[in-house]
Amino acid sequence: MGKIIAVANQKGGVGKTTTAINLAASLAALEYKTLLVDADPQANATSGLGFDPATITSSIYECMVEDVKAEDIILQSPSIEFLDLIPSHIDLVGAEVEMINMDNREEKMRVALNALKQQYDYIIIDCSPSLGLITVNSLTAADSVVIPVQCEYFALEGLGKLLNTIKIIQSRLNTELAIEGILLTMYDVRLRLSNQVVEEVKTHFQQMVFDTIIPRNVKLSESPSFGIPALLHDAESKGALSYLNLAREIAEKNSVVLAK
Ligand code: ADP
Ligand code: MG
Repeated sequence: MGKIIAVANQKGGVGKTTTAINLAASLAALEYKTLLVDADPQANATSGLGFDPATITSSIYECMVEDVKAEDIILQSPSIEFLDLIPSHIDLVGAEVEMINMDNREEKMRVALNALKQQYDYIIIDCSPSLGLITVNSLTAADSVVIPVQCEYFALEGLGKLLNTIKIIQSRLNTELAIEGILLTMYDVRLRLSNQVVEEVKTHFQQMVFDTIIPRNVKLSESPSFGIPALLHDAESKGALSYLNLAREIAEKNSVVLAK
């Protein structure tokens, strides 16, 4: 059975999509069969893997709102073996409104993804920067959450609200939801501020913080424009190597049985 990991933080620009793409690609490079689910109407994970969102006709939206089967809309990564994608497109914006009157509206994504759990070792969900219904669906579908926190001013801002939302989902919708870890991103060793944030987050959250820290690295910000993960753009770059370390850290923490 695969493990579903949501990458979530309602703050924008903290590294969710960068983490989702590069974690998924690194798990695939370690030969875990991996599915990346783009659950953000911005579709940055979709374009980051080399697909043009304007040409996407079926997305996670159709699975949640129109009962299209998730397995019918899976795309294979053109560049990485073991990596598949469920794309997004801008219509996902409308899904929240369309789902308002549906029964079990928080569980649409869980139903869609549960049908795929047997086929994958890991399913990584890139969440949108909100705590709306799509993100609630993502957290309800997930076994665990990775929370990226940027090594910047106001790093901890909004984190209390996110943890509270996770608690509510644990109590009402998904009692098994675990926190996989807090991931420090865009770390700059030369900046005192970066080091202060690391200290502060580790003091607050202790063993919840991943050992792996993601550095600020230009290869990570460049690679989406080529439609590839950093490990194909520059496999030796600090950015690519740090996400490979994160993938190892996650895989070692829970021994996963490889999908056939
Ligand atoms: P989110 O999905 O949380 O909005 P993104 O992953 O899109 O955040 O990152 C926001 C911006 O920061 C993007 O332009 C991305 O390329 C850049 N970025 C993210 N992580 C890094 C990093 N470790 N080093 C350099 N740039 C990064
Ligand atoms: Mg994003």
